[in-house]
Amino acid sequence: MHELSVTTNILNLALEKLKEQELTQIHSISLKIGVMQGYEKQWMQHFFERLSKGTPAEGARLEVEIVPITFRCRDCGCEFAFDAHGTDDCSCPGCHGISYEMISGKEFSIEQMEAS
Ligand SMILES: [Zn+2]
Repeated sequence: MHELSVTTNILNLALEKLKEQELTQIHSISLKIGVMQGYEKQWMQHFFERLSKGTPAEGARLEVEIVPITFRCRDCGCEFAFDAHGTDDCSCPGCHGISYEMISGKEFSIEQMEAS
């Protein structure tokens, strides 16, 4: 259940930020997480609700945007999504090349925090 520790870290970070800005209440936190991280949004929200009880983040909304895996072709610059349930053909849809790099799917960031 690795969502528990990551959610604890996010909450601690948010509370620290709140203190730094001399604010008292967190209203919402928005996260951007690549699908490769393997976190379940529902679990994070569930843990957040539990962990934030009795803290200035109690009642805050935790918004999680799961970012899909996308690649960019090194040959033609075409960007395409990785479809794990698709066919075995994983070549570039533009030029059918197989030289490409992952450009999203591994990120993990706090995009925004609303507090007052
Ligand atoms: Zn290509």
